[in-house]
Amino acid sequence: MLGGMLVAIDGPVGAGKSTVARAVAARLGFTYLDTGAMYRCVALAQIQDEASDLKRTTEDLRIDFEGDRVLLGSADATEAIRTPEVSQRASVVATDPEVREQLVDRQRGLTQRGDWVAEGRDIGTVVRPDAELKVFLTASDEERAGRRAAQTGRSIAEELADLRERDERDRTREASPLVRADDAVELDTTGLPFDEVVERIARMAEDVRAGTPAAEAAPQQAENT
Ligand code: C5P
Repeated sequence: MLGGMLVAIDGPVGAGKSTVARAVAARLGFTYLDTGAMYRCVALAQIQDEASDLKRTTEDLRIDFEGDRVLLGSADATEAIRTPEVSQRASVVATDPEVREQLVDRQRGLTQRGDWVAEGRDIGTVVRPDAELKVFLTASDEERAGRRAAQTGRSIAEELADLRERDERDRTREASPLVRADDAVELDTTGLPFDEVVERIARMAEDVRAGTPAAEAAPQQAENT
């Protein structure tokens, strides 16, 4: 295949997209793009601006990735964008069509050259419908809440309420709602070991790169057995 390749990984909150996408990128030697971090940066900037006299628009914001770090302007925002407050605000910010247009433009620009694993809600449907491989990652609500609780230290009940609220907002918003692309391979990771999820996606990407259509490579690999 000439030029770059894009693996798009979309799905609801807590399906494991970030950790899976990061590991798939490392395994394939691709660059990882966390588009949720960009919405989180816009949310963080809004929260900061409310506490000051600043009034920045999305255009004013410089968002950069340096390895695993996320930079908002010159400040390292890696940890600050992961608080529950920013999570909720990001999901509200993400309903704003102007914010989406800005960030989608940047995401298209970034992924135009080279090999990428990009992860979010609308990569395979809106940002890059031309992605060579599209994966829609899911897991049961309970499993997703359990995984998030293990990361955040909050209770499973709190995480369950939080993710249901964010999912509902993502699925019902007018601008680029969360839906599975028709040509995406759905992978339910409930009960699947992490390494196996990574391996299945990496193998599908290798098959696609070798010229096997994803639709042929996918069905038996995507089954949750
Ligand atoms: O994936 P993550 O939880 O970091 O994303 C934060 C929020 O940004 C999500 O709740 C979702 O509402 C929004 N988002 C989006 N489109 C993307 C990535 C994230 O709407 N491509």
